[in-house]
Amino acid sequence: MSKKVLLTVDDGPSDNTMALVDHLMQREITAVMFFLGRCMEAYPHAVDYAIQRGTVIGNHSYSHAAFSQISYEQGIIEIERTEKLIVDAYKRNGVERQAKIFRFPYTDQGGNNFARFQEYLIHNQFEHLDTNFVNYEWFSNSATKNHIDIGVTFACWDWELWSSCHFKLADLRQNLRKNVEPSMGSFTEGASGEVLVIHDSNWRGEQGEFHFDIILEELERMNVQFVKPVPSRPTLSQMLETTV
Ligand SMILES: [Zn+2]
Repeated sequence: MSKKVLLTVDDGPSDNTMALVDHLMQREITAVMFFLGRCMEAYPHAVDYAIQRGTVIGNHSYSHAAFSQISYEQGIIEIERTEKLIVDAYKRNGVERQAKIFRFPYTDQGGNNFARFQEYLIHNQFEHLDTNFVNYEWFSNSATKNHIDIGVTFACWDWELWSSCHFKLADLRQNLRKNVEPSMGSFTEGASGEVLVIHDSNWRGEQGEFHFDIILEELERMNVQFVKPVPSRPTLSQMLETTV
């Protein structure tokens, strides 16, 4: 049975976003791109390009702040600056926004201000994405599943390509076939679907390769089935839980 996979792309846009969108279009994959406000300001054409081609844009804060390390007020500014950029981008492209979603950077949901951030996100109608195709028990108990945030079941550590000189494309390929950690999914075993996170970056390989092309090729080889992102409202119990 082929695995269902929701593709999410964090930290863009970048010099490579338009190429990534083209690769996704060729493969008929609809991805969610969690953009940073500061990068949206630097790459407005990439933002327009992605929106015009049906990419779902999510909010990933303005500057990739760790929310437990900043004040509540700073956190709200991080969210709202980027919200404004996203709303304006959809408007100027004449495209209706598909989902109002937010992913905390570093899965850091705000430490001492956790409850206040959740209240803010619920009050401002932030949504979930449907992840019914994921059936890991650890995921259904996870903080990102049960609060307003978009969780992940699989990370391939692609950021090591540009942050470590020891990590090569072969390591990236190998990581996609890994199945070791108790709170990490697998593309090679089990029946659960996966929420995959990859990263948007200016990185290019020595032969001009794109890391995302290699990731998508590998996943195709493993015969996964990419699902379209579907927004869902938080349930009442989730809302009550966060106000306790
Ligand atoms: Zn990020």
